[in-house]
Amino acid sequence: MMHSIRLLCSSMALASAGMVLACQPPAEQRVAGEATTATPATARVEWGMVIHGGAGTIRRKEMTPDREREYRAALTEALGAGYRVLRDGGTSLGAVSAAIVILEDSPLFNAGRGAVFTADGVNSLDASIMDGTTLRAGAVAGVTDVKNPIVLARLVMEKSPHVMLSGTGAERFAREQGIPATPKDWFFTERRWKELQEAKTAEAKPATERGTVGAVALDRTGRLAAGTSTGGMTNKKWGRIGDSPVIGAGTYANARCAVSGTGWGEYYIRNVVAYDICARVEYTGASVAAAASEVILTRLPKQEKDTGGAIAMDREGHIATPFNTSGMYRGWVDQTGAVRIAIFVE
Ligand code: ASP
Repeated sequence: MMHSIRLLCSSMALASAGMVLACQPPAEQRVAGEATTATPATARVEWGMVIHGGAGTIRRKEMTPDREREYRAALTEALGAGYRVLRDGGTSLGAVSAAIVILEDSPLFNAGRGAVFTADGVNSLDASIMDGTTLRAGAVAGVTDVKNPIVLARLVMEKSPHVMLSGTGAERFAREQGIPATPKDWFFTERRWKELQEAKTAEAKPATERGTVGAVALDRTGRLAAGTSTGGMTNKKWGRIGDSPVIGAGTYANARCAVSGTGWGEYYIRNVVAYDICARVEYTGASVAAAASEVILTRLPKQEKDTGGAIAMDREGHIATPFNTSGMYRGWVDQTGAVRIAIFVE
């Protein structure tokens, strides 16, 4: 079943980038995977990217027009940043990083500036990035004073012999790489503080409006990359680390497939979600849409409902954006510059 795609029709951020803001895409330009049902991959892009701003309980009736506009503008800005990198001949890795930096700097998303609070009232950030061509990867977990954890994750990949650094060690590495400590109040948002207070009074189940950010991209030379950044889950305790910085769980890319996940991290770790999707593509010949749907829409819901979603892209530019929650902030752009944004089941 192909769902219609709602488009952002305002100009703003992208006009300067020469991007086309499509309001009514021709049917053949619709991209597969825009569904919470198994959608076959029927369309492809030559190069482009897909981003997400988190899956969870996002209810249409609770979304004001102003708020929706803010989300769409932020997602559009992030796609614009990634698009410019790709258009100018940059790498998929560069596009993933550029898009995620914009989302980390927005207070709207649970990453960087808008990160949720731990039970101790601090913001503890996780991020990872992976280059599908070389299988090189970098990740940081539990950092509290790094404005853009995705940038640090990339430095771990490029400037250290390791894949994952955590806590104060990762922060020390950041200083050595010339990244200054960001004052803690940069990460304070009233909304996330309130969510912590609410979570403390209803401890039973982790909060379900999450807002992790991620990106997957395919560049002009056919290279894939993926990245994910998050504040984790509200009220997390004991130094809990989720799936987002775990290569194979929240992020994975190889030569054929790139995935970024968002959802209840414990399930994503147990099911090695990002790798499972790519392994299905590689070993079974499944389309990226079929593989992502099988994992997100069939396997995870058997274990728990409302676990989350994922974005996936293959080396032919087929994309998928399945989620088993009521919404997932998401968007994509292709070589024509056409931007599509969606939040709910469309
Ligand atoms: N996956 C993230 C975590 O568990 C949260 C999310 O994506 O909403 O840390």
